[in-house]
Amino acid sequence: MKKDKNIGFIGLGNVGSKIANRLLLSNYKLFIYDIDKAKTKKLLNKGANNCNNFKDLCLKTSIIITCLPSPNIVAEVIEGNNGISKYTTKSHLWIEMSTTDEHEIIRLTKKMNRKGTEVLEAPVTGGQHRAESGNISILVAGKRKNFNRAFPILSKLGYQILHCGKLGNASTLKVVTNYLASINLLSLGEALMVCKKYNIDLKTAYHAIRISSGNSFVHETESQVILNGSYDVGFTMDLALKDIRLFDKLTDKFKIPAEISKLMNKIFTEGIKKYGDRALSTSIVRSLEEKCNENLRSRGFPKKLKDTESKKKGIEIKF
Ligand code: NAD
Repeated sequence: MKKDKNIGFIGLGNVGSKIANRLLLSNYKLFIYDIDKAKTKKLLNKGANNCNNFKDLCLKTSIIITCLPSPNIVAEVIEGNNGISKYTTKSHLWIEMSTTDEHEIIRLTKKMNRKGTEVLEAPVTGGQHRAESGNISILVAGKRKNFNRAFPILSKLGYQILHCGKLGNASTLKVVTNYLASINLLSLGEALMVCKKYNIDLKTAYHAIRISSGNSFVHETESQVILNGSYDVGFTMDLALKDIRLFDKLTDKFKIPAEISKLMNKIFTEGIKKYGDRALSTSIVRSLEEKCNENLRSRGFPKKLKDTESKKKGIEIKF
C-alpha cells in the first residue's frame, strides 16, 4: 500500500476542485472539506469522502492540502477554533497550495512545527485548465525531506515542479508571477482595443501578437476567452486583487517604488466596485470595452480553455 494514501483537501473552489479531482484519478483516498457544501457534491459523487470538521479530516489522513482564497482564511482554518493545528500530529504533512503571504506561511509553519507537523508550500500556476489536465506548474518551497515525501503526490497533480528553496520563496515567486500575468491582462485589453479602433480584424491581431515579441502565456490563453466573450478563466477579481495587494506588501517592505502595481490596485478595485468580487478577473477588459463603446469579439475562439495535451508525468525542474 502507498504511504500517504489518505489525503485531506480543504477548499474546493475553481482550482481546488480540479486539483482534488486529479488525486481521485490517481487512486488516492480523498477526504474533503469546504465551508460551502455545494462545492463538495461533484467530488463526493466521484468517490471522495465527506468530512464535517477538521478533527475528522485530520484523524483520517496523513497529508492535508489547503487551497483557500486568502491569507486570513488560511489562518482561520489552521489556527481558528477547532482549526487544523489542534488535531495534526508529527505524522502529518500540511501542503499549502493557496496563493498566500510569505510572512504568514512562515508564521503558521512555526506553529505547526511545534506539534511536530511538517509543512511545505506548493502554490500552483498555469490556470484551471492545466489544473484539470494535471499539467499545471507547481512552485514548491520548504525542507527537501518534505519535498521528497510530497513529490509522488505533486507529480500526479502537475507537470513542471520546481523546488524554490526555503519556505516563503514559493509564495513570493507565485505572487511575482501573478503580478506579471495581471500586467499582461491589462495591457492586452488596451492592445486589442487599439487594433479594434484601427479596424484590424481581431483574429489577425491575435495571431500577429502570438507570433511576435509581444506574445505571452496570458495572450495565448486569456485573450482567447476574451475574444470569445465568455471571459471564462476560472479566476476571480477578488483573488486577482488579493494577489496585487500581496505584491504591494512585498515591495513595501523594501520600499521598492513599484508604480505599476499601485495603478493595477486602483484598476482592479474599481473593477470590483463595478462587477463584484466574484466576477471573472478578465472582466477588467469588459470595463475597457464599455468605456470605449466597442466589443472585442471575434469568431473561432473557444468558450472555455482546454489543455490539449494529456497528463504528463510530473518532473522536477533542475538547472
Ligand atoms: P475559489 O474562491 O474559487 O475557492 C475557494 C474555496 O475555498 C471555495 O470553495 C470556498 O467555499 C472555500 N472556503 C472559503 N473559506 C473556507 C473555510 N473557512 N473553510 C473551508 N473552505 C473554505 O478560489 P480558487 O480559484 O479555487 O483559488 C484557491 C487558491 O488558489 C487561491 O489562493 C488562488 O489565488 C489560488 N489559485 C487560483 C487559480 C485559479 O485559476 N483559480 C490558479 C492558481 C492559484
